[in-house]
Amino acid sequence: MTTIDDFSFKNKKALIRVDFNVPLDDEFNVTDSNRIEAARPTIIKILEDGGSAILMSHLGRPKGNRNPELSLSHICSKVSEVLGVQVKFVDDCIGNKVEEAVKKLKTGEVLLLENLRFYSEEEKGDVAFAEQLARLGDIYVNDAFGTAHRAHASTTIVAQFFAGRKCFGYLLAKEIKAIEKVMKTGEKPVTAILGGAKVSSKITIIENILSKIDHLIIGGGMTYTFVKAQGGKVGNSICEDDKMELALSILKKAKELGVQVHLPVDVIAADDFDNNANTKIVAVNQIPDGWQGLDAGPATLDIFRNIIHSSKTILWNGPVGVFEMESFAKGTIEVGNFVAEATENGAFSLVGGGDSVAAVKQFGFEDKVSYVSTGGGAMLESLEGKSLPGIAAILEG
Ligand code: AMP
Repeated sequence: MTTIDDFSFKNKKALIRVDFNVPLDDEFNVTDSNRIEAARPTIIKILEDGGSAILMSHLGRPKGNRNPELSLSHICSKVSEVLGVQVKFVDDCIGNKVEEAVKKLKTGEVLLLENLRFYSEEEKGDVAFAEQLARLGDIYVNDAFGTAHRAHASTTIVAQFFAGRKCFGYLLAKEIKAIEKVMKTGEKPVTAILGGAKVSSKITIIENILSKIDHLIIGGGMTYTFVKAQGGKVGNSICEDDKMELALSILKKAKELGVQVHLPVDVIAADDFDNNANTKIVAVNQIPDGWQGLDAGPATLDIFRNIIHSSKTILWNGPVGVFEMESFAKGTIEVGNFVAEATENGAFSLVGGGDSVAAVKQFGFEDKVSYVSTGGGAMLESLEGKSLPGIAAILEG
């Protein structure tokens, strides 16, 4: 895997695809600079080598229109602050004006380009547009995991103009290594904790990881399709009747592969999908009509704790309850605690994909797990076993 450590950037202009798709408030201030901070080590290494950096990113979904609200000019001062360098800005990402700005760029300087998605060619993966971007740099660096599953001009197509002169930034390399550590080289026992609302959105992941894991913990809304498929009563709990066959086939396949599946045994049931609903603890397969399971129960958490604590490699995707409501957040918080404790005892833990990342951040576990992925869709596709175009484009050499 070629990373920026394989190049000296002395007197080189690095064209870096970063993911600066950050949230802005009404006054266009950056409200969460995590993604900018995450790209910092890559940019600093290039500057310290004696190179200069040209940063390209998208922001929001302008869909090919020059929407001033989505201009990257809004984030220029925040990028300057994070990098400790006065970042220059050019209000376009291709063309003469940009090429002039790049020509003037000196060693140690950083230039931020305008939102790539002001051109519809970006998302279309247009080759001519990618070629115009390619003119701007000597070496192409991809450090945007969040868009690595898209074959866009700046994430994938542009790489074809940099044969032998392209590499992964530190952030993207870290993501790739974290996924490999779980999917390929993980120390046993390997445990996957899969939660979230629906079986249908996780099925490809389950099918792909079954042969790589020892334990599968299933939680959240997915639970009830498995429980009903086995003859349990799930009341009004979320359930995909058309996926019951699939649930049974997953259980069968897991058995064949020697994977131990751990489903909840008890749940916090509520008489409404509401934080203030009445609640009671019931067996997972005895949920009365009019009640729905919204969080893992105490006996379930005891089981989950034992499995997680005895694991050496842990993948966590999806909350085990409706964590957005305080009354049903306990299970997800506890799972976060168990993963943090296992990590402290030497396990490798990767949290990735959508809502579990939000939960980990919300409940303050971010620094207590080994790695929190920066890419939702890209992480899900990696776990599904798909080759990501942005990664393949660099590996092709
Ligand atoms: P996903 O995006 O598939 O990871 O699903 C995350 C969503 O699943 C969160 O918004 C949770 O509130 C929801 N969820 C988790 N457990 C349940 C449950 N028992 N019933 C309904 N929704 C749930």
